[in-house]
Order: sequence, then structure tokens, then C-alpha cells
Amino acid sequence: MNVSTEDYMFQMIRTELIDIVGKEYVNTRYADKFAHSIDYYWIPEMWHDRGKELKQADFVVYPGSAKDISRIMMIANQYKMPVIPWGGGSGSQGGALPVFGGIVVDMKRMNKVLEIDEKTLSVTCETGIIALHLEWAVNKKGFSTMHLPASIACATIGGFLAHRGTGVLSTKWGKFEEMVMSLEVVTPNGDIIQTPPVPRHASGPDLNSIFVGSEGTLGIVTKVTIKIHPIPEARKFRAYLFSDLKVAMEAGAELMRSRLRPCAVRLYDEEETVHHVKNVTGLDRKGAYLVFGFDGREQIVDLTMGYAMDIMKKYHGEDLGSKGGDLWWDNKYKFFYPGYMFTLPKAFGTLDTVATFSNILNVYTAMKKVVNEEYPQARFIGHFSHWYEWGCMLYARFIFEEDAVPKDAVEAAELYNSVWDKAIRAAIANGGVINEHHGVGLKLGRYMKDMYGNGFKILQGLKKEMDPNNIMNPGKLGL
Ligand SMILES: Cc1cc2nc3c(=O)[nH]c(=O)nc-3n(C[C@H](O)[C@H](O)[C@H](O)COP(=O)(O)OP(=O)(O)OC[C@H]3O[C@@H](n4cnc5c(N)ncnc54)[C@H](O)[C@@H]3O)c2cc1C
Repeated sequence: MNVSTEDYMFQMIRTELIDIVGKEYVNTRYADKFAHSIDYYWIPEMWHDRGKELKQADFVVYPGSAKDISRIMMIANQYKMPVIPWGGGSGSQGGALPVFGGIVVDMKRMNKVLEIDEKTLSVTCETGIIALHLEWAVNKKGFSTMHLPASIACATIGGFLAHRGTGVLSTKWGKFEEMVMSLEVVTPNGDIIQTPPVPRHASGPDLNSIFVGSEGTLGIVTKVTIKIHPIPEARKFRAYLFSDLKVAMEAGAELMRSRLRPCAVRLYDEEETVHHVKNVTGLDRKGAYLVFGFDGREQIVDLTMGYAMDIMKKYHGEDLGSKGGDLWWDNKYKFFYPGYMFTLPKAFGTLDTVATFSNILNVYTAMKKVVNEEYPQARFIGHFSHWYEWGCMLYARFIFEEDAVPKDAVEAAELYNSVWDKAIRAAIANGGVINEHHGVGLKLGRYMKDMYGNGFKILQGLKKEMDPNNIMNPGKLGL
């Protein structure tokens, strides 16, 4: 629903919003609405680039408290207007886009660190805080959140909660959902609820799990308590080069099954090693580049590193030493800097998938085959970036150079969506789960039914019960 600015109802709703947050925090200027109509999803970027209009919110509101948000929910229910939470706008799935107009609730004013509890090792903060600012605040006291994603400087804690984000150290320290202890949430009817203060209990189903990953479709998370950890005494990396991806994957899988608990493992396919790894780190070698690290007490780090090196030797990996590993760690964010990251006028997408070790290479091969065969003008590259004892995440990408992307916006969108469709269906058919940390948003909503089967009815039922007027972030998560 968009309300015409000429309509007196527009002024009525604006007045009510101003009554809640104050005039300076209700924006209706084109520039503000435009800034909140585009995130890191390729389609709206391309759409704008081709001179087309983007769907915009009617109001961009900056609340200062959960109470403000509760009152905004009541207005939205009364006028049946969408409410779209907005964090840093760095999502790649179109999750925060106001595709049906309505009220964008930009959370960045709610950015306070409320308590660092050194006995429990936890920090409580408002969710509009940029992840790096939270990390700096706990660093000052000798702690780390251990949540170090590549978008740490531009994404909010609320965004990571909403998308089940993953940082570079997730292999040991967990995905964002594993860091959460408790939440404060404003539900679509305006209730302000608090989940239990501890994350492990036997008091029925876990309320945290309903909201973590719900992408703003079931409410707005306003406060969170997450675990923190003493900054480790040592963190060391090492890299190996393998003749091919398959053998490197076997080595990586054995490392994870050994329960040595590396803090990071990353494996690049041959294509990405010779192009991307070389461009960013300067390592000019052919093969599959595998890097891993350990952190904690120095003696334990050295001991576990030794065991891990034995595993690599067993699979005939060429030892690139700690230098080869540090190259990656020191440049881990550079992969995403301008000049290294793919941008328009190229077309590109990250086919984020997670699968068990039994399935992961089949998923990779099936995706690569379908992209290579159906789109010979595209390149397919991949690396495996977040590892578990049972499997890992595939960060596969397709890239079309400028001359292979139609100039016409509709044709470009058609091409783009068709690549996603074929690659994602190939992944699902081979045991892949979409997805590991980018979330579903607008882009992948259409696959949710395929993924969950009848189980999706449970999510639909929850949505209907909690949000009967469908005000919360409509059009997302396939709901
Ligand atoms: C260069 C780059 C690198 C990236 N690297 C990583 C990475 O390493 N790891 C990773 O996980 N992701 C990464 N991402 C993706 C992106 O940063 C994440 O998806 C992040 O979680 C988005 O956070 P945000 O604050 O920008 O959220 P937004 O894009 O503003 O919103 C994302 C979703 O969260 C919802 N939302 C926001 N705040 C709240 C709230 N308080 N309550 C309820 N819902 C809310 C929105 O409605 C939307 O559905 C990267 C993106 C870029 C551009």
C-alpha cells in the first residue's frame, strides 16, 4: 500500500507517527525513501541503474525505544500498513525492501550497549548497533563477540539476528543464532516480550528460535543478550595447496570430524584460487587452496595445529606454511573491497548453500554443471567457507561480464532469475539447503515451500496467528 502524499490520510498517519517519535525522526523526503529502497540485492540495483523507479516506503521512521515500536505497530494494524525493519541495508536478498510501501522502521537510533556482564560473559545491546561498534565496545574490556563477518562495519546486530548471520570464526564460535542468550521483541500486535534469560532450558519450545531467522516477518527484535569471550591469547593460521578440490574436501572434512575445533576453515576451488585468491592475496598458484586456523591458549593452539597438519599430510597437501595462512587472514575483508568485489555493470549472485559432507560436492558439481551448460557466457566459482562437524557451506558464485547482461531491465531480470532458479533447484535436488547465512528475503521466498514441504504450513500458521493483518515485512520469506 502506498498512500499518496496528496491524500489527507497521508498527513493523518504522518501526524500520528510524529506524535510517537518526534518530527525529526519521521522522514518522507525522496532522498530518505530512495536510500531505503535499495540494498545489496542485484535486481533493484540493476533496476535503478537502468533508470527505472524503485518501490519506496511512505514513511521512514527512526524509533528510540521498544515502546515507540509498539505504538508504530498499533498504527500499522489500524491502517493495515506494512512495517519493514531496516538495519544497515547490507542484505543481499532484498529482505529489507519496502516492496508494498508502508513504514520503514530504521533501527539505527537504537544502538546502545546496555550491559557487559563479566561474570556471565555476555553483552546486552539494542539491535540497531553496527556489529563493529559492539565489537569495539567489548574489546575495550578484553572481550570479543567472535562475530566477525565481512560486513561487520555496515550491518547491524538486528540484521544478523534476522538472517542467522555467520562470521569468519563461525567454525569454532558459532553462527549468530548460537551466540544469542535472550531477546526482547515487539510482536506485530504491539506486545513487548522478553524471552527467558538463559538459552538452554526444558521449558518447552525455544522462543528465541521463532524470532532468530524470521527476517522481520514476526516482529522487531529490539534488544539482545549475546555471549562474549575473552580475547584469545593466540590465533594462528596455516594453508595448504591440493591438486584438486575433491581431495582437499576430504582433508577438510576429516579435520572437522577430528573434533580439533579450528576457528576457521576455508577451501577455494581451482577457479577461484587462480583468480580471486591471487588477485586479493597475491598467491599465484594453481590447485585448491585450503586455509584453517586455531585460537585460544597458545600451547593448545600449537598442539591442535600439529594434529591438523598431520591430517593435511595424509592427503598430500603442499604446506604453504603459516605465511600462506596469514595471507588469507590479513586480507579476509579485502575480498569484499571495491575493486575485488563484483559490482554492476556485471551480473553476479552468491548461490549460498549448506549440505552434509556426503552431499556437498554433489551440490557443487550439479550447480556448476547447470550454470556452465545453460549459461556458457557465465563464470562459476566457489569456495567452502563455514564448516561444521557434519558438513559445510558452499559460497558459489555466478558472474556475467557487462557485455553478457541485457541492457533492457526486464530481460536482465529474466536472465538473472532464471540462473537462480536452475542453480537453486539443482542444489535442492542434491541435498543442499538454501541457505547458510544470507537469508531468504525477497529473492528466495519462492523456494521455501519446496524446501520445507508440508512443514512450511507450520511457519505459515505461525505467521497468520501472530500477524493476522500481515503487516510485518510482507512478501519476504515466502510467507
Ligand atoms: C560486502 C558484504 C559482505 C557480507 N558479508 C557477510 C558475512 O560475512 N556474513 C553474513 O552473515 N552476511 C554477510 N553479508 C550480508 C549482510 O551483511 C547480512 O545479511 C546482514 O545480516 C544484514 O544486516 P543489515 O543490518 O544490513 O540488515 P538489512 O539488510 O537492513 O536487513 C536484513 C533483514 O533483517 C531484517 N531486520 C533488520 N533489523 C531487524 C530487527 N531489529 N528485527 C527484526 N528484523 C530485522 C530486515 O527487515 C531484513 O529482512 C555481507 C554483505 C555485504 C554487502
